[in-house]
Amino acid sequence: MSEKTLFPRIGFVSLGCPKALVDSERILTRLRAEGYEISPAYDQADLVVVNTCGFIEEAVAESLEAIGEALDEHGRVIVTGCLGERADRIRKRFPGVLEVTGAHDYEGVMDAVHRHLPPAHDPFTSLVPPEGIRLTPRHYAYLKIAEGCNHKCTFCIIPSLRGPLVSRPVGEVLAEAERLVLAGVRELLVISQDTSAYGADLKYREDDWRGRRFRTRLTDLARGLGELGVWVRLHYVYPYPHVDEVIPLMAEGRILPYLDVPLQHASPRILKLMKRPADAEDTLRRIEFWRRVCPDLVLRSTFIVGFPGETDAEFEQLLDFLREARLDRVGAFKYSPVEGAAANALPDPVPEEVKEKRLAELMALQAEISADKLAARVGRVETVLVDEVGEEGAIARSYGDAPEIDGVVVIEDGQELRPGQFAKVEITASGDHDLWAWPAVQGEDR
Ligand code: SF4
Repeated sequence: MSEKTLFPRIGFVSLGCPKALVDSERILTRLRAEGYEISPAYDQADLVVVNTCGFIEEAVAESLEAIGEALDEHGRVIVTGCLGERADRIRKRFPGVLEVTGAHDYEGVMDAVHRHLPPAHDPFTSLVPPEGIRLTPRHYAYLKIAEGCNHKCTFCIIPSLRGPLVSRPVGEVLAEAERLVLAGVRELLVISQDTSAYGADLKYREDDWRGRRFRTRLTDLARGLGELGVWVRLHYVYPYPHVDEVIPLMAEGRILPYLDVPLQHASPRILKLMKRPADAEDTLRRIEFWRRVCPDLVLRSTFIVGFPGETDAEFEQLLDFLREARLDRVGAFKYSPVEGAAANALPDPVPEEVKEKRLAELMALQAEISADKLAARVGRVETVLVDEVGEEGAIARSYGDAPEIDGVVVIEDGQELRPGQFAKVEITASGDHDLWAWPAVQGEDR
């Protein structure tokens, strides 16, 4: 045990996507609840836990590097998370690792920690805030509504790592959201692997919250979250027909008019090779309908370029789709094989330089679309949520900007604002991805 403290100290390295981040938060909450202290530095820790990501090869490499660094710097390391599902690979490369546990195996990590660093007994250290420990800033939080996925997209190994869809009952999710809001959270980011499928495994079972019945289903969840008086943002929503039901809630201002819809491609043949549950024509019609119901809707999506066998013509189909759909926010990635993914067996890999070229072309087209759409917002007065304040002004986000992945609103003369505050601003200028603004009426206003 560290000489500097009476209580056992854990160094914690958290890698990966927001879903992994939520896992880290849960493990940290359990650790703090049991009296462990969390150490920001290896040399003050008694044990290090590395929560890894195994989604793409780059994430695997980053995770392996983090394990190596923790072993070099400290030596007593427990590995958990998605990459932990491939324990053999980790043990072969790092025989000195104490234990390896898999994705969202909270009990497994805690058991491993107990074995190698038993908890101290002090009732006061067991007191953790009811909302748990979070790694995000105080004013926003990810709300994980389900684990796993029932799809079998050929480029993805998440279903084999995390298993089939397991939804959390809606009453439990709404109660967690309520605790987070009471603790000061102003924006809830709803996440899972496939948010539209929420509740399907539970047959949309009913549950209680605030003395009323809610179905474990996206629309009811959104309606409940919309009662909490904070921003609610939906991520990873596939364009299934029932998603139409949440758009009126956006038009009514109950949840943010923002939808993150991962589409991945637009060519029917490539979508089929990817085993994606979508069709570009249907998606375009659906988008048109959504925009009729909610004209301010901001749509975000992600795409893969250079999927095996993608021809020039199929890539053009993707660009045509983007020209027509005019999505507000787009993230794009070059296809990279993931160990264990079915797509690795597909013929005709696209050469790296072609992937690079296609990625650049897609991003240039999207930058034009994004710049046009942002320019149309200049002159509007909008509510933003302030993330940071410095000497130069403040950095905030509008309803169209999810943290980390979208643009920001730079508020000149925003020094008086404070992080976590909703503020009214007038948009004065726009770029390819960001907006600039002046404070309009300061104060709380959602
Ligand atoms: S929907 Fe597809 S990409 Fe997303 S987690 Fe499931 S299998 Fe992976």
